[in-house]
Amino acid sequence: MSEYGSNLKPESWLVTAGRPVAAGAPLNTPLVPASNFILGQERAYARDDGTPTWEALEEIVGGLESGSAVAFASGMAAVAAVFDQLPAGAVVCLPDDCYQGVVGLAAAGAARGRWRIRRLAVDDTAAWRQACAESDLIWLESPSNPLLVVADLEAICAAPRKPGAIVAVDNTFATPLNQQPLAFGASLAVQSATKFIGGHSDLLAGVVTTRDPALWQALRRARELNGATPGALEAFLAVRGARTLALRLQRAQHTAQMLAERLERHPLVARVRYPGLPSHPTYALAKRLLKGYGTIISFELHGGAEQADAVCHAVRLIRHATSLGAVESTMERRAAIVGQEHLPPSLLRLSVGIEDPEDLWADLEHALRVAAA
Ligand SMILES: *Cc1c(COP(=O)(O)O)cnc(C)c1O
Repeated sequence: MSEYGSNLKPESWLVTAGRPVAAGAPLNTPLVPASNFILGQERAYARDDGTPTWEALEEIVGGLESGSAVAFASGMAAVAAVFDQLPAGAVVCLPDDCYQGVVGLAAAGAARGRWRIRRLAVDDTAAWRQACAESDLIWLESPSNPLLVVADLEAICAAPRKPGAIVAVDNTFATPLNQQPLAFGASLAVQSATKFIGGHSDLLAGVVTTRDPALWQALRRARELNGATPGALEAFLAVRGARTLALRLQRAQHTAQMLAERLERHPLVARVRYPGLPSHPTYALAKRLLKGYGTIISFELHGGAEQADAVCHAVRLIRHATSLGAVESTMERRAAIVGQEHLPPSLLRLSVGIEDPEDLWADLEHALRVAAA
């Protein structure tokens, strides 16, 4: 980040970063659909050297996390580049509640004998601190998906590490606005830019940020060799989405708090998991570590899976769809997903968007009433 940029609040950085500065240049970094460049300067081939469009996205997200970023084709391409750094026979620690794609990638590598996996409870800070001394990759996700458990990143990232160990934090749910893993001492912060950064459910992209120049080089090399490069249009759209990230997040998490409180009082609802509710098991940690509680709510119904499915089919403004972090509210029953059968059967994960809060509550109330009938 430039010296000027480092003095700006994130809300201003999101708007001003990643733009050309030369007189006469377009105000927005253009969409550059280039594979190769005329030789004679440092940029020769896009897969090796990047493009101005990818770099705009990297400048924005890197600056937000106060590190240097590498953009990838998707969140999972970013995750795979991190796992690529591991030596043969490595020990990998994953949270017990973790994005299913990461669990799948780790399991596939373990099945081929590339590494061994340990699973730890998100909130078992002592176990994580111990694991830092014994593992090659500490993979953290906080708040976790979909149970929204908050990890004590501050304590875990400060624990003594095995030499060469990587502590990576999947920061997708918190976004760099609510949580800064690198400031706690994590080696890497990972974003699925598909979610909040893009914010409109119209692209796939991922970003890894680090303050370690050797790791940054290694991630660039992994992108180059695996060819996991972002699309030109996707990077352009992600930059466009990032401009409004702060506004969208503020609005949606304000609504999420209100909806979580009302859901908690609803007679059909058995349990609400939202980091901003005092009833949430890791509320104290969330209050201390997160600048905001996010836009994702998971809640369970007394009526079981069938009733939860009925809610999904009865919502109208909220869309019955997977994924999260977009302008539109989406909801799904997580245990219906292959590999997620261990979750509470009626658990609904709601990603709150930027619609009118009362319209969203009316939609939810109506759907709960229909499902109960
Ligand atoms: C979506 C998601 C990913 C994977 O990102 P893609 O862009 O879908 O590849 C990783 N981690 C979390 C927490 C996610 O929500």
